[in-house]
Amino acid sequence: MPLRAKVASSVSRTAAALSRAAGRGDGSVIGGWIGLKIDPELLAHLAAGRSVALISGTNGKTTTTKLTVAALEGLGRVATNAFGANMPTGHTSALAKAGATPYAVLEVDEHYLARVLDETRPRAVALLNLSRDQLDRAKEVAMMAQMWREALAHHPGVHVVANADDPMVVWAAQRSGAVTWFSAGQRWHDDSWVCPECGGAIERAGGDWRCTSCPLRRPRPHWVVEEDGVVDPTGAWHQVKLQLPGTVNIGNAATALAVAAQFGVRPADAVLRLSSVTSVAGRYAQVERDGRLIRLLLAKNPASWLEAFDMAEAAPTLLSINARDPDGLDTSWLFDVDFSPLYGRRVLITGDRAYDLAVRLQVNGIPFEHVTTFADAIAAVPPGRLEVIANYTAFQDIRAELDRVN
Ligand SMILES: [Zn+2]
Repeated sequence: MPLRAKVASSVSRTAAALSRAAGRGDGSVIGGWIGLKIDPELLAHLAAGRSVALISGTNGKTTTTKLTVAALEGLGRVATNAFGANMPTGHTSALAKAGATPYAVLEVDEHYLARVLDETRPRAVALLNLSRDQLDRAKEVAMMAQMWREALAHHPGVHVVANADDPMVVWAAQRSGAVTWFSAGQRWHDDSWVCPECGGAIERAGGDWRCTSCPLRRPRPHWVVEEDGVVDPTGAWHQVKLQLPGTVNIGNAATALAVAAQFGVRPADAVLRLSSVTSVAGRYAQVERDGRLIRLLLAKNPASWLEAFDMAEAAPTLLSINARDPDGLDTSWLFDVDFSPLYGRRVLITGDRAYDLAVRLQVNGIPFEHVTTFADAIAAVPPGRLEVIANYTAFQDIRAELDRVN
């Protein structure tokens, strides 16, 4: 690395360590920020010489990143932004901290994909899905797909691993030089009824989809989720044994296997490594407290709430909603979520914006009880399982109450 980059990298590590020592989080944002101030090309310097995979999309990127790291670790050391700091500051900090590693797997905020592609020159990029997210901050879905499409056009040599079940992702990846398609299913369809190419209607039948007015249609996938396993491009089926719940995570595993294959890892070898992943930054963690087996599920936007309902067992369920800065300030997205899967379950609600949730549940005809604290929720339910579904800062609050379970 050039001298300037070496200095920047060293200062970045020190700043991050000081921030951690001062108890101000993991320090990756401030460390990366300072490093990039000293050398604006620091991320490019740090990425040079490593084989990089990028993972982007609205939902599932933290989990898929962690699964991909597990799949690649058989090859050698892998640098990653494990704390979910998924903008260039976080990437810079992660690579500076990791030192020399042959591989890097980076979770990338979908808004920053173009820049991170330019700077890290990855071997592969995985595109998971695009759906509506924080209303006061995120771009409209079709705009995001357009940004991805243009960004990928500048990098014809990057191998794209993309979700065949999401029309927006397919359109974004369509013109790339080399694409591996995976089918991980898509429960949420409400951001892709209109064709991004021509504005025509998209028609769905079973898992298939096509535009009714132009040739855009679902490509034939190379990797497919089948029951509790994944079929690889040769037709071989691999059972996937995960410590993470839900079909959505089998889909994330399929993506990780498809990315790992681009690095020469055979699926039969990679699949065994995936079972080592337990929780992801506290998500899916199970904790026992006073005889209650509590499981934490993070759900941040309408698509991820649908997935969380699918993962949660039919047990008492606590929903917690905040609307602080990291959550997005606008809670009207609650009206995009269909809460009817909760019929018949005992539902408790809490969080700063529990009353917004109360209105939504009332409209949906779901009975609920309001509790002011997490401790009250535990006291209110009988011993046994308690499912907790919370959005970002509400999830962090509950984690803090459970002593930062991991
Ligand atoms: Zn069309």
